Amino acid sequence: MKLDYTPDQQRFRQEVRSWMTANVPPARLPSFDLTREGFEAHRDWERKLSEGRWGMVTWPEAYGGRELDLIRWLIFEEEYYRAGAPTRVNQNGIFLLGPTLMEFGTDDQKARFLTRMAAGDDIWAQAWSEPGAGSDLAAVRSTCTRDGDEYVLNGQKIWSSRAVFADWAFGLFREPGSERHKGMSLILFPLDAPGVTRRPIARMDGELVFAEIFLDNVRVPVADRLGDEGQGWHVCMATAGFERGLMLRSPARYQMAASKLAALYEANKKQLPASVGERVAQSWMDAEAYALSIYSTASRLEAGGTIGPESSTNKIFWSELDVALHQTALDILGSRAELVAQDQGNAPDDNWLDGYIFALAGPIYAGSNEIQRNIIAERMLGLPRA
Ligand SMILES: Cc1cc2nc3c(=O)[nH]c(=O)nc-3n(C[C@H](O)[C@H](O)[C@H](O)COP(=O)(O)OP(=O)(O)OC[C@H]3O[C@@H](n4cnc5c(N)ncnc54)[C@H](O)[C@@H]3O)c2cc1C
Repeated sequence: MKLDYTPDQQRFRQEVRSWMTANVPPARLPSFDLTREGFEAHRDWERKLSEGRWGMVTWPEAYGGRELDLIRWLIFEEEYYRAGAPTRVNQNGIFLLGPTLMEFGTDDQKARFLTRMAAGDDIWAQAWSEPGAGSDLAAVRSTCTRDGDEYVLNGQKIWSSRAVFADWAFGLFREPGSERHKGMSLILFPLDAPGVTRRPIARMDGELVFAEIFLDNVRVPVADRLGDEGQGWHVCMATAGFERGLMLRSPARYQMAASKLAALYEANKKQLPASVGERVAQSWMDAEAYALSIYSTASRLEAGGTIGPESSTNKIFWSELDVALHQTALDILGSRAELVAQDQGNAPDDNWLDGYIFALAGPIYAGSNEIQRNIIAERMLGLPRA
């Protein structure tokens, strides 16, 4: 792995930086989890990105991308976070469903969904979890019953991020009577279809981060199934690899938070014990180590390699790093951490308390860390099942 950037990559960095300087909104956007207005402000930002063809730089030009490699994507992300650009409201779409569509979608599905996704015209939610199926995702009970050229969907989903205001969802359903990993299909459905009811779940701070989704005889065309019939588990595991592996959490996010933490420490260090300085340094080093490891994975993927169960190690690393970073910031601030402005928008690292609350969820979502440790034990280390 080369540890410096080529002149081309440096030129690309300058191009991103100039565009961000000219276009990133000067004031924070209102939260996309609190009101429709905030959600739409973020959709407008997605549209602006897409006008500059920055919606998803690795995608083919035909779908609004720039066909860039993963190293340039990482550079893009670094400049994105450096500029303090808004949190991506369509991250479930562009980072999770997008790559899955690229791998399993038909040409028709790619043409219908990817461009609109890159443009923010369709904001996507992930509808996998159910009240009895979280870590044990193979326990989903929501059904898809085939009726000619349509599926009839029934059941209940929960913890669906951004589904309160989103337009579409990708859900995991099973043929009635099928068991565990068999007979599942991944189906795309509009959240305003007849028979869909969304019930927001407010977080303790009032933000409507999640929704429950109830499906009562919802009819969708068979053409909106992603992957083969009954192969939903296989398709979902590919998506989960993207979620844990590379895309969902780029290192830039933690490098930016670590440098803000270092600045916070600098401003307060006279009153602090040396042990706090050590924790700050550790977080900073961990963020750098995570970046190097992701650059290494990206180089391997660009050379034709694949990402396997080691995506679980990434997921544990970034989620624990995020908790440590925010916990250290709260310890530096003490009770001052609770003095936050009313509406900080979706900018966790400017508001350490809010960021901490969100960081606490990191070891749970995208497959809890206990489950990731099971995967590492069994599939990377070859240990027997517990
Ligand atoms: C912020 C956030 C956003 C989310 N967004 C979405 C979303 O957009 N779409 C979606 O579908 N879901 C979403 N989820 C749900 C998430 O995927 C689930 O919470 C997660 O999979 C855990 O499932 P559970 O909550 O049902 O917990 P459970 O599966 O009931 O687990 C409870 C505890 O037991 C542990 N445990 C369970 N089984 C084992 C085992 N075999 N070995 C060791 N430990 C075990 C778990 O690790 C956990 O600590 C989100 C969750 C959060 C917190």
